[in-house]
Amino acid sequence: MRVLGIETSCDETGVALYDSEQGLLADALYSQIALHAEFGGVVPELASRDHTRKLLPLIDQVLADAGLIKGDIDAIAYTAGPGLVGALMVGACTAHGMARALAVPILGVHHMEGHLLAPMLEPEAPDFPFVALLVSGGHTQLVDVRGLGDYRLLGESVDDAAGEAFDKVAKMLDLPYPGGPQVAALAEQGDSSRFRFPRPMTDRPGLDFSFSGLKTHTLTALRTLEQQAALDAQARADVARAFEDAVVDTLVIKCRRALEASGRQRLVVAGGVSANRRLRATLDAALAKRGARAYYPRGRFCTDNGAMIAYAGAQRLLAGQRSDTPQPRPRWPLAELTPPQP
Ligand code: ATP
Ligand code: MG
Ligand code: FE
Repeated sequence: MRVLGIETSCDETGVALYDSEQGLLADALYSQIALHAEFGGVVPELASRDHTRKLLPLIDQVLADAGLIKGDIDAIAYTAGPGLVGALMVGACTAHGMARALAVPILGVHHMEGHLLAPMLEPEAPDFPFVALLVSGGHTQLVDVRGLGDYRLLGESVDDAAGEAFDKVAKMLDLPYPGGPQVAALAEQGDSSRFRFPRPMTDRPGLDFSFSGLKTHTLTALRTLEQQAALDAQARADVARAFEDAVVDTLVIKCRRALEASGRQRLVVAGGVSANRRLRATLDAALAKRGARAYYPRGRFCTDNGAMIAYAGAQRLLAGQRSDTPQPRPRWPLAELTPPQP
C-alpha cells in the first residue's frame, strides 16, 4: 500500500510517500522557522496560512521525487492532532479533499504515535514491546508500548516539556528560536565541572518529570553571573552545559527506572529532543550496562516530518481503519488510542 503522509500540526509542513512493501519512497519538509523567528515562537495564524501556501507544492515535489503521479497513491494519512487547530485544519481538509478526488481511503493520525513509531523507519527497527520516551517541544512522556495502539502512560512532565525548557533557556541566552540545537551547540564549549544544576524529581520514586524549576535555576545562575560582571562567553557556555547535563541526567535516570519497573529491554526515544547527541551517548552507555538497548529515529525524523505520519497511518490503514470527516483534535491524549479497528 502506497501511503501519502501529511504533517501540519505546528510549524513544519511535512509530506512523504511510504510504501508498505518498499519502504520510504520520498519525503520533503518545509520549516517555517524563519517566518516565526522574529516573534521568538510560533504564531498560530501565520502557521496556518503558510501551510496552505506550502502543502500542495510539497505534495507535487514528493510525487516527482518518487517518479509517481497522484493516481499511484493508494491511501492518505494526515496528522489529526494534537497541535494547533488552524494548522491541523489545513492538513485535514487538504487530505480529505484529495482522498475524495482520488477515491482512496484516508485516516487521521495521532502526531505522538507518529513520533513514537518513527524509529521503525530505520534499518534496525525495534520489536514490540518496548518503553518509549517521547521528548519534544510539547511532550515529555514515558509510555509502555505493548503493541500498535496499546499504550500505557508511565509518567510525564507536570509542567514544561524538555524541548520547551531548551527553547526558554535559549531565549535567556539570546539564542534564536528553536533553541534546542543552539543550546546543545553552545554546551559543547562548556565545562561540565563548573556548575551543577538540580536533577528535578529524581530524589523520590516515580516516573514524572518537572523542568520548570530547572529553567528558573538557570535564569538565577545567569543573573548572578551578570551581577558579578562574570557573564562572559565561557560562562554562558558553562551554563548551557550545566543545563543540558541536568536535563540529560534526569531523562536517563527516569528511563532506567521505567525499564526496571516494566522489565523491558528496549527503549525507543523519539521527538525533537531525541536528536540531542549528549542524550543519546549518555543513554546508550547507561543502557549497555544493563543489557538493554535504545532505538532512535535518524536526525531529521526526530523533529516533525511527514514520513512518521505516512508510516503510522500505513500500519492502521492496512488493518482497515478509516476516518470519515476532517476532525482536528488539538488536544488528544495518546493513552486514548486503541489498536487498529476497521
Ligand atoms: P510535539 O511533538 O510535542 O507536539 P513539537 O512538534 O513542537 O512538539 P518537535 O518538532 O518534535 O516538537 O521537536 C521540537 C523541539 O525539539 C524543540 O523544542 C527543539 O528545541 C527541540 N530540539 C531539537 N533538536 C534538539 C537538540 N539537538 N537538543 C535539544 N533539543 C532539541
Ligand atoms: Mg516543530
Ligand atoms: Fe512533534
